[in-house]
Amino acid sequence: MKHHFINNVSVAPASGDYIDVLDPSDGQTFDHLARGNAHDIDVAVQAARFAFEGAWGRLTATERGRLLQKLSQKMLDNIDALTQLESRDCGKPLKQARADVTAIARYFEFYAGAADKLMGETIPYQNGYTVLTIREPQGVTGHIIPWNYPLQIFGRSVGGSLAAGNACVVKPAEDACLSILRVAELAAEVGFPAGAINVVTGYGHEAGDALVRHPGIDHISFTGSPNIGKLVVQTAAEHHTPVTLELGGKSPQVVFADADLEAMVPVVVNAIVQNAGQTCSAGSRVLVERSVYEAVIARLASAFNALRVGPAAMDLDCGPLIRQTQLQCVTAFLDEAKRDGLTVAAAGQVVVGAPEGGFYQVPTLIRDVPPGHRLAQEEVFGPVIAIMPFDDEAHAIQLANGTDFGLVASVWTRDGARQMRLARQMRAGQVFINNYGAGGGIELPFGGVKASGHGREKGFEALYSFTVLKTISIKHD
Ligand code: NAD
Repeated sequence: MKHHFINNVSVAPASGDYIDVLDPSDGQTFDHLARGNAHDIDVAVQAARFAFEGAWGRLTATERGRLLQKLSQKMLDNIDALTQLESRDCGKPLKQARADVTAIARYFEFYAGAADKLMGETIPYQNGYTVLTIREPQGVTGHIIPWNYPLQIFGRSVGGSLAAGNACVVKPAEDACLSILRVAELAAEVGFPAGAINVVTGYGHEAGDALVRHPGIDHISFTGSPNIGKLVVQTAAEHHTPVTLELGGKSPQVVFADADLEAMVPVVVNAIVQNAGQTCSAGSRVLVERSVYEAVIARLASAFNALRVGPAAMDLDCGPLIRQTQLQCVTAFLDEAKRDGLTVAAAGQVVVGAPEGGFYQVPTLIRDVPPGHRLAQEEVFGPVIAIMPFDDEAHAIQLANGTDFGLVASVWTRDGARQMRLARQMRAGQVFINNYGAGGGIELPFGGVKASGHGREKGFEALYSFTVLKTISIKHD
C-alpha cells in the first residue's frame, strides 16, 4: 500500500481511497496507490511553500547543487532496486528500466553542476545607470508526469526546477508512480529539507486537475497527451499560471538514397521498439526516397521479423504496453489499417509462455501508408511504423512537416548541404542528422512546436523555464 509523500513523510489519502496497481506483464494487481484529491494537493502545496520560504529557499545555489549530486549518487547506489521497481510497474524490459535509472541519475548530476552557474547579465544603458538581470526561482512548481518514462521525466522536470531553487509538487501518472515515490524517499534520506519535493498520487481529473487549479502554484510543467495539455493550459489560465507543455509526436525519419543504410536500420528499429513505442519522440514515420524504398523495406522487415515481445523480466526487445486500454487503442489503429487494405510488411512475435493477461503488442511495419491516413497522422503510442516513399527533397520536406506535430525529426543522408537544408526546414524541436535521440540527450534542449507543445526542458533551457528574469536598473549619478 503506497501513500503520498509530503513534507518528507508518508501521508494517507484524505479520501481513504486507493487505486489498484497492475503489472502490465500479467495484468495482475500487485500494489495499491493513494487516490489523491484537492485536499491532499493543498497540503502538499502548503508544504512546498513553507520549504521555499524556509529551509530549502535559504540554501545557496552551491548547497542545492550538492544535495542534487547526493541524490544522483543515492539513485546509482540503489540502481538494482529502482530498476526492478520501474520494470515491474511500467512493464519495461530490465535493460530499458536500468537505462532510465541511469538517465535520472545523470539528470540530477547535470543539474547539480548547473545550479550555481545560472547567471544574469549586465546591459549597456544610458549614462549614469547600471542595469542588470538576475534569474530568480518561481516559487512552487507543479509537475504532471505521464506513465511512459516516470523516472526520466521526473529527472528532467523536477531536477531542473530544484536546481533553479523552486520547491516541487509532483503528480505522477496513476499507471506508474512507484519509482517516483521511492526517489522522493531517497531525497529525504540524503537530506533534502521537508517540503522541497512532494508527491501526490492519483487520477489526472482529480489530483492533477486540483494541482493545475491551485492558486499557490507558480508554474506547471505538464508532460502528456495533446488533449489533456490543452485542458491544462485552459485551467491554468484562471490564475495566469505559466505552463510548459511537452506533448506527443509523429516524428519522421527521412531516408535518402545516399544514406548509410547499414547504420540507419538498427537506429530506426530502436527508435520505435524502445519502450514498446510508448515514447513521445518515437520515430513512428519512415519516409524513404523511392529508388531505395524496396531495399529499405527489406532490411527493416528482416529486423522486425526477428523482434521478440514478452514479460518485462525476460528482458526481450519489447515489453508489454502499459494497460489494456492502450493495447485496445493500438489494435484499433491496426484494424483500421487492415480494413483500408494497407499491407503489413513485417511483424515480431510474442514469446511462448508470456502470461495470458499481459498487454502484448508485436512490433509492426506497415508499408505504403497514404500521407493523409490516420496511421500517418496520429500518434499510435505503440510499436508501429508507417513507411511511405518520397520522390525528391521538396516532397520529403512536405511529408515530414505534414502533420499537426513537430517534436523530433531525423535525416539520413551523406550530402552535407542537404543535411543543413533539411535541418533548417524541419518544423521540429530537435533534428538529428544520421542519428536519432528518442528520449536521449540530458544536455540537449527538448520540446516541440505545434501540437507537440511549447517551452523547453532538458539542458540549461529547463533552468530558464523554471526561473523568472528580473531586470534591475540602478541610477547612480
Ligand atoms: P495523459 O495526458 O493522459 O496523462 C498525462 C498526465 O496527466 C498523467 O499524470 C495524468 O494523470 C494527468 N492528467 C490527466 N488528466 C488530467 C487533467 N484533467 N488535469 C491535470 N492532469 C491530468 O497522457 P498519457 O497517456 O499518460 O501519456 C502519453 C502521452 O504523453 C502521449 O501523447 C505522449 O506523446 C506524451 N508524452 C510526451 C512527452 C514529451 O516530452 N513530449 C514525454 C512522454 C509522453
